[in-house]
Amino acid sequence: MTTDKKYDAIVVGGGHNGLVAATYLAKAGKSVVLLESASELGGATTSVRPFPEYDARLSRYSYLVSLLPDQIVADLGINFKTLERSIASYTPYKKGGKDGGLLISQNWDARTAESFRELTGGDEEGKKWQEFYNEIAVLAERIAPYMLQPLKSAADLKSEIGLPEVWKFMMERPIGEVIQDRFQDDLVRGVVLTDALIGTFTSAQDLQANRCFLYHLIGNGTGQWRVPQGGMGAFVTELNRVAVLNGVEINLNSHVTDIDSSSNGVAVSTASGNKYVATDLLFAGAPQTLAKLRGKSAPASLDGSQMKINMLLSKLPRLKSGVDSKLAFAGTFHVNETYSQLEKAYQVAKLGDIPSDLPLEMYCHTLTDPTILSPELSQRGFHTLTLFGLHTPAALFDADPNGAKEAAKAAAISSLNQYLEDPIESVLAVCADGSLAIEAKSPIDLDNDLGLPRGNIFHRDLDFPFIDGTENAPIKWGSETDDAHIYLAGAGARRGGGVSGIAGHNAAMAVLTKD
Ligand SMILES: Cc1cc2nc3c(=O)[nH]c(=O)nc-3n(C[C@H](O)[C@H](O)[C@H](O)COP(=O)(O)OP(=O)(O)OC[C@H]3O[C@@H](n4cnc5c(N)ncnc54)[C@H](O)[C@@H]3O)c2cc1C
Repeated sequence: MTTDKKYDAIVVGGGHNGLVAATYLAKAGKSVVLLESASELGGATTSVRPFPEYDARLSRYSYLVSLLPDQIVADLGINFKTLERSIASYTPYKKGGKDGGLLISQNWDARTAESFRELTGGDEEGKKWQEFYNEIAVLAERIAPYMLQPLKSAADLKSEIGLPEVWKFMMERPIGEVIQDRFQDDLVRGVVLTDALIGTFTSAQDLQANRCFLYHLIGNGTGQWRVPQGGMGAFVTELNRVAVLNGVEINLNSHVTDIDSSSNGVAVSTASGNKYVATDLLFAGAPQTLAKLRGKSAPASLDGSQMKINMLLSKLPRLKSGVDSKLAFAGTFHVNETYSQLEKAYQVAKLGDIPSDLPLEMYCHTLTDPTILSPELSQRGFHTLTLFGLHTPAALFDADPNGAKEAAKAAAISSLNQYLEDPIESVLAVCADGSLAIEAKSPIDLDNDLGLPRGNIFHRDLDFPFIDGTENAPIKWGSETDDAHIYLAGAGARRGGGVSGIAGHNAAMAVLTKD
C-alpha cells in the first residue's frame, strides 16, 4: 500500500514512549500514524499470561514504576495508578552462624532502626543512611521538573538546583567511592549500590554507575519505586485508549525497514511493502536501530546485563531467618548484593563466566496488587515473583544462548535458596505438562524478542540529564538527530531510559516547538 496522504508525523515503535509521543502530537492537532513491528503494543512494558493454564498476567519485562511524571499522566488523561509498597527492601544475611535480615520500611521507623542495629551493632549506620537519602530526596524534588523542560548545561542546572555537595557526589565522583566513604557495612553499602547497577554492566568506580544511580533515585521527584496497578500491561492499555481517542492511526505488524529523508520530510517503508510519508519522523525504537535504518554507524553502548525470571507460586516460601514472607517479599528482596559481592560478580563476568553467587533482586507484585491474578488463584494463596539478576552481560550468552541461560537460571535459584526454608522449586506452581511455572529471559532473548540492542534495557547507556559537551550536534530536548526531520522518541534519547514517557513527551515537544 502506498498512500497519497502526507501525515504530520510518523511514529515508529509502539512501546510506551511511542504511544506517549503520538498522543501528545495528536492532542496538538497533528495527523499521526504509529507503526509497530509486533502484533501487540507495549514493547518492554507488557503483561502476558506466560503459563496459559493459570489466569495470572505477569509484567513480563519491566515491573516497577518510578520515573513516570504525574504531569504526563494528567496531560494525557490516562487512568493508571501506581501503588506504594509498605516495605522498601529486605536483605537476608548469615552472621555468626545465624540467619538474619535487614528490613527497611518505605518510611524510616523503629522497626528499621532496630534492623540496622541488629546488623551493624549500633545506630551510626542507620543515621548515615537517613542523612544520605534525605540529601538525595531534596535533589530528586528539585531536579525532577527539569526532565520535561529543554535541556540545560551542566553548569546552569547545577547552579539552579543549588545543592553543590549532593551534585558532586551524584554527578562528578564515582558513586562507589562515595558509598565507601559514607557507609562502613558491606551489606549496607551493597544495598545502596544496587541502584547504580540495574541493567548496567559496570564497576561501582565508573561514572556510568552514577548515571544509573541518579535515574533510580529521582523519579517523579521522590525516587520511590511503585507497583503498577493491574501490571505494566494496564499502562499500555490506557495509552492505547487515549492515542486512539485523540485520532492516532495505529498499524501493528508494521516493521519499518527503510527510512528516507529530504528537505521536505520523511518517507518510510515497511517489510510488508507499505510506504508512508510525513513531515517528521519520531523513532521510538533504539538509536542503534535508527542508525542502521539510515545507513549510519550506530552509537557505542554497553551490553545489556541482566536476567529476568518470572515465576508463579502456589504459596510464598518461608525464610530461614523466620521473618514473615509477606514482609520480606513485599519490597525489593536482595540476594548476593553486598558491595564486595557486586564488585566480585562484575569481575567474574568480565572474565567471561556467569557469577555463581549471582547478585539478584526480587519482589512479589501480588502482595501489593492482587488484581493480576484471578480471584480464584488469589484465594488459593498463589503469588507472583519477579527476579532481576545482575552482571550477566550478553557476551556470556553468545556462544551457547540456551545453555548459558540455563546456567544463569540455576545460579539464580541456588543463590536464592541459600535463604529459603522452602526451596523455590517446591513452591512453584506446576503446569499441565508437569513443568514448573518459571520463565527466564536473557539479554539475547531481549534483543530477539524486543529489539533491545544486546539486551540493553535502556536501549543504550544512560546519559546525565544535561548537556555535557559530548554531543555531536546541537540538542535542545535531547531528541534531536543530525536530520531536522528525524527525532529520537524512545528510551535511548537523552533523559529516556526506564518506564517514564519522558522521551516520548520530549520528542513531541521538540516537534511542536521547532521554528
Ligand atoms: C527485563 C526488563 C526489566 C525492566 N524493568 C524496568 C522497571 O521495572 N522499571 C523501569 O522503569 N524500567 C524497566 N525496564 C526498562 C524499560 O522497560 C524500558 O527502558 C522502556 O520500557 C523502553 O520503552 P520505549 O517505549 O522507549 O521502548 P520499547 O519498550 O523498547 O519499545 C520500542 C518499540 O519499538 C518497536 N520497534 C523497534 N524497531 C522497530 C521498527 N524497525 N519498526 C517498527 N517498530 C519497531 C519495538 O517492537 C517495540 O515495541 C526494564 C526493561 C527490561 C527489558
